Amino acid sequence: MISIPNILAAQKEYFASQKTKEVRFRIDLLKALKAEIQRNEEAIYDALKKDFKKSEFETFLSEFGLVVSELNLAIKNLKKWSKPQRVKSSILTFPSSDYIYKEPYGNVLIIAPWNYPFLLALSPLIMAIAAGNTVVLKPSELTQNTSKLLTKIISTVFPKEIAISIEGDTETATQLLAQKWDYIFFTGSVSVGKIVAKAAVKHLTPVTLELGGKSPCIIDGSVDLKLTARRLAWGKFLNGGQTCIAPDYVIVHSKIKSDFIEVLKAEIIKMYGSKPKTSPDFPRIINHKNFKRLTELLKNESVIFGGETDEKTLCISPTIVDNPSLESHIMNEEIFGPILPVLSYHSESDIEEVILNQPKPLAFYIFSKHNSFVEKTLHTYSFGGGVVNDTLVHFGNQNLPFGGVGNSGMGQYHGKFGFDTFSHQKSVIKRGTWFDPSLRYPPYKNKLNLV
Ligand code: NAD
Repeated sequence: MISIPNILAAQKEYFASQKTKEVRFRIDLLKALKAEIQRNEEAIYDALKKDFKKSEFETFLSEFGLVVSELNLAIKNLKKWSKPQRVKSSILTFPSSDYIYKEPYGNVLIIAPWNYPFLLALSPLIMAIAAGNTVVLKPSELTQNTSKLLTKIISTVFPKEIAISIEGDTETATQLLAQKWDYIFFTGSVSVGKIVAKAAVKHLTPVTLELGGKSPCIIDGSVDLKLTARRLAWGKFLNGGQTCIAPDYVIVHSKIKSDFIEVLKAEIIKMYGSKPKTSPDFPRIINHKNFKRLTELLKNESVIFGGETDEKTLCISPTIVDNPSLESHIMNEEIFGPILPVLSYHSESDIEEVILNQPKPLAFYIFSKHNSFVEKTLHTYSFGGGVVNDTLVHFGNQNLPFGGVGNSGMGQYHGKFGFDTFSHQKSVIKRGTWFDPSLRYPPYKNKLNLV
């Protein structure tokens, strides 16, 4: 049995030894992690397939490849990122040279979700280690095969006083959250995010919360129907629709709605065939609880495509729901599955009525050839991040910060933004000693006239 307080005590002691402050040491750890991940490539594909029938290609595209590129970026840039950064000095402190020192917070807790179980556990871990922290990772209990493999990989690469994966469910997470950490990084649902924030506040621990929400997709009347349908279907049904930034629902211009739906149906069939249950590329719903939740959402809705459900294999085929009411469950909770509601609009105020009535989304998609409409929309709505004329792809650019706003989260990561998230930015002024005018020192008599 792992004792959480003992592990944390060992990590605290190790951090205090200053060893993790050595940049070379961190680079070596990251290189070792990369080598171990590459050694386990097949096992990673296998684990994801066992957990929810995710295909090798999707695992490569959306998990393995992204983790390796995050490692490559950190290994290549770590020296530069961790150097004290010189900034412009102020005339008021002349003579001086001014710096931002990047200081690791210390002992970091990472709690990961199940939906991209490999990526969303390792991507924050990589940057926490790169920044010189120790890490306790709690992977999801719903993806047992991937979580076991993560534990194995991490224990092969890291001594437990630097990084460890502790598997477990809510009880384990609760025990972990009761400890005093220097930073907590959480990815998961809004409701658990609030529990994490509450636990963090007790010790004034800074947190990043990567949460979810209902991400809209607006399609105006000017679009290329086929291209739009293809990019939308890919982003919606990848990972079986269980993607935090999946387009949750569509608002399409009423004049193209029926044509668009027909083209969308054809594109879905092209991707997954007419029997998606037999497609090797279509993942399963993660468990019975989510299967039931999703099938409940379909009750009393107008299903115009798909809708086949099979509890035994946890399969719900790609499904289109026509025009649900804004008061329905399907329009008031994050769907997180392969079900796409399609609404329509005549005027921009119809779009506002839908989007402004919901919490700020994590992602936002707009398909249009009209630049002025695109710009106006991007400025009107608040959202974590988004894409014009495609879906999901903003996640993959390491030069863009990734994170939510409002209910969809706080803080950001990816690439250097991740390194910065796990570093305290320590301001330091180094003053010259050869010049020391007396203006600032008392007595102040008549000095106001001089400034
Ligand atoms: P979840 O919130 O149920 O679980 C996430 C993690 O929290 C798991 O490790 C779980 O064991 C732990 N947990 C569960 N209950 C807890 C409790 N009471 N106290 C402490 N820890 C607890 O989320 P999930 O079902 O794994 O993932 C789906 C959600 O995550 C969706 O809402 C999705 O939008 C969101 N998500 C967000 C991002 C992002 O980057 N913003 C990425 C993936 C998923």
